Amino acid sequence: MEVIIRPIQWEMCRKFLFFRCLLCSIDSLRKGLFQLNLFRHSKSGRKFRRQVCEIIKNFLGYHYKNDSGLIEYHKSKEKTPSNQMEHNIYPELSERIDFMAKKTIADVDVQNKTVFIRVDFNVPLDDHGKITDDRRIEMALPTIKSVLDRGGKIILASHLGRPKDAPDPKYTMKPTAMRLAELLGQPVEFATDTIGTDAKAKVQALKTGNIVVLENLRFQPGEKNGDETFAKELAAFADVYVNDAFGTCHRTDASMYALPKAMGSKPKVCGFLVEKEIKYLSNTIANPQHPFIAIIGGKKVSDKIMVIKNLLGICDQVLIGGAMAYTFSLAKGEKVGNSLVETDKINLAKELMTLGGQKLVLPVDTHCSDKFATDGNKKIVKAGDIPDGWEGLDIGPETAKLYVGIVKNAKTVVWNGPMGVSEMPPFDEGTKAVAQAVADSSAISIIGGGDSAAAIQQLGFADKVSHVSTGGGASLEMLEGKQFAAVNLLDEQN
Ligand code: AMP
Repeated sequence: MEVIIRPIQWEMCRKFLFFRCLLCSIDSLRKGLFQLNLFRHSKSGRKFRRQVCEIIKNFLGYHYKNDSGLIEYHKSKEKTPSNQMEHNIYPELSERIDFMAKKTIADVDVQNKTVFIRVDFNVPLDDHGKITDDRRIEMALPTIKSVLDRGGKIILASHLGRPKDAPDPKYTMKPTAMRLAELLGQPVEFATDTIGTDAKAKVQALKTGNIVVLENLRFQPGEKNGDETFAKELAAFADVYVNDAFGTCHRTDASMYALPKAMGSKPKVCGFLVEKEIKYLSNTIANPQHPFIAIIGGKKVSDKIMVIKNLLGICDQVLIGGAMAYTFSLAKGEKVGNSLVETDKINLAKELMTLGGQKLVLPVDTHCSDKFATDGNKKIVKAGDIPDGWEGLDIGPETAKLYVGIVKNAKTVVWNGPMGVSEMPPFDEGTKAVAQAVADSSAISIIGGGDSAAAIQQLGFADKVSHVSTGGGASLEMLEGKQFAAVNLLDEQN
């Protein structure tokens, strides 16, 4: 991939560089992931070029949109009109100059320092304890490598599963340490406890470039309780604290809140993953390019009331799909057959319709079946006209067409929740159509965690959207406009 920064962007880039990224690693360049051409300022030197490459890697991310024309341009190496280039790159970089007030790991000198990174290695395991999806480990690599490249020593800690405040071999972190060693191509130590003798000995023995993974934080009751004594013991291990566990950022577990607090005046900063999540889920949404469209689906309106309310305040349109649409139908006095509804949330649905007015867009047709299965009889009916004995399982084709058209003109899109029972074909068609539209759109596109993120991944569209969130609950809370205590207490940029 080749990224070309034009002179006008170079000024922005340089500003950005000085303020935020002087210490970034050059790992991506070594791997040949990016090559940078600076038109006029090429004599600025190789060092700058390397640093800018690292910015592109860390802040534009691997998932930088390729439907904006940028990557097609680089692939084909054809000339693109200059105004298009400016459109493509300038907003991305300018956004990032002041996107958040928090320091990141790139701002900290880690040479010879012990860096405690709270990661989210809560990976799925099969019955034999084998990792079935290691994406969460991969996503922590930029932060880990940045510390390794700059001569730091690393302690990694995470929770995994839901052990009952005590050691449970089913939830040991050992497989994650082994997988990390494979991904990095270097040995990774594993401590059989978190603050016990093994952890203490292994942390003490760390040398520059070494890594130790501690045992599951939730084997200690203090973790879920936010216990300060437990947090102090962990804080004593390290010179620097890094929060790179977005999936847990909405919680105040000891390693998320009491631990950075216990660091006192020692640095406590974000990792690159958390930085990217906050940038998209908070800053982009707070300062969106219009038209700003939200697509909200899923089972229950009650789960997403606050999200819908918050988005109605800032979006141009909020498109509703999934079973939650039938509660709105019911609130309008329409026929919903056997569809999944929340009868106790009718007033709430009415309130949201009043609040949203024209902004709240409901389905116009429904794909329904006489049985909750793939092999039932199926038909498309007008929304609000679902016959008795039938249930709505997906948006209909007219709704899909309507939503695709709206997404086409959007400049910012947020999507959370499937349009129907996406795990049961053919009722995945609405979700697929929306996923395709989001992937095809040139808007900044942000996919919330959970089923919509899974749909985007399964369809192979992850590289075609701006950001796929790694956190289900955390991303919903961020879409609600909530602040996270675990992030608020991290060090501010000067
Ligand atoms: P949520 O966790 O709220 O995002 O909801 C996701 C779940 O909603 C998925 O398991 C979908 O199968 C389910 N869902 C979406 N639409 C429907 C529907 N029309 N009827 C029943 N379940 C649905």
